[in-house]
Amino acid sequence: MNFHIMTLFPDMIRRGLETSILGRAKEAGYISIDAVNIRDYTIDKHKKVDDYTYGGGAGMLMQAQPIYDCHKAIVENIRKEKEGANPRVIYVTPQGKVFDQSMAREFAREDDLIFLCGHYEGVDERVLEEIVTDYISIGDYVLTGGELPAMVMIDAISRLVPGVLNNSDSAETESFQDGLLEYPQYSRPEEWMGKKVPEILLSGNHAKVDEWRLEQSKLRTKERRPDLYEKWVLEHPEVPKKKRRKK
Ligand code: SAM
Repeated sequence: MNFHIMTLFPDMIRRGLETSILGRAKEAGYISIDAVNIRDYTIDKHKKVDDYTYGGGAGMLMQAQPIYDCHKAIVENIRKEKEGANPRVIYVTPQGKVFDQSMAREFAREDDLIFLCGHYEGVDERVLEEIVTDYISIGDYVLTGGELPAMVMIDAISRLVPGVLNNSDSAETESFQDGLLEYPQYSRPEEWMGKKVPEILLSGNHAKVDEWRLEQSKLRTKERRPDLYEKWVLEHPEVPKKKRRKK
């Protein structure tokens, strides 16, 4: 899986994604991170990439030309190896659909993904109309730039790429994978500050452990994310009515 990130701050992306699991995945060739500096594509002799907004208003806007040419160069590069490739272009923006695990799963099926990170007041609408296929937000708040949102998404997508996690089970049992939050987990010692690990987890009875974990997942989701729980219940009509959340 190849990530191509159009940004004014490529070092931020490179440094942010070079440690721990993603750093190892990159070394091992499961993913590649290509942070491309939009500034390298400006035709302005002072290397300017932003300007005032028409109609007035505070702040500067990223101009269309450098982004358009940067995108063109990335696509041409991809097509050298994959003729006719037409990779999706994600503009990370607070005005997009809010990113979630099902989107991460969908994006993880792509070979190449291009991200556009905005900065300042954002990006000239005309280039967005030309190149963007997906408008995605990481939540209802405004950040200074798109680099952190792009990194958040790349992290979530990468861990679903086969080979990135050592143990593929860990992605399968995690929160959201089945629409529920993950159950509580414990490690050694068996007793810490007077708190004991639940007996069932020491029993060696895998069926009972699975049953307990599912029940804990349901309880936790119901308590912390009632919105998700309601959805899960609707998608699992086999759950007895009395176990459903009372309004
Ligand atoms: N003027 C824009 C608006 O009101 O929608 C906000 C611009 S923001 C200060 C600068 C850049 O940060 C955006 O172009 C976008 O790329 C990124 N950004 C900020 N908040 C974000 C969020 N919640 N999700 C994704 N990207 C975000």
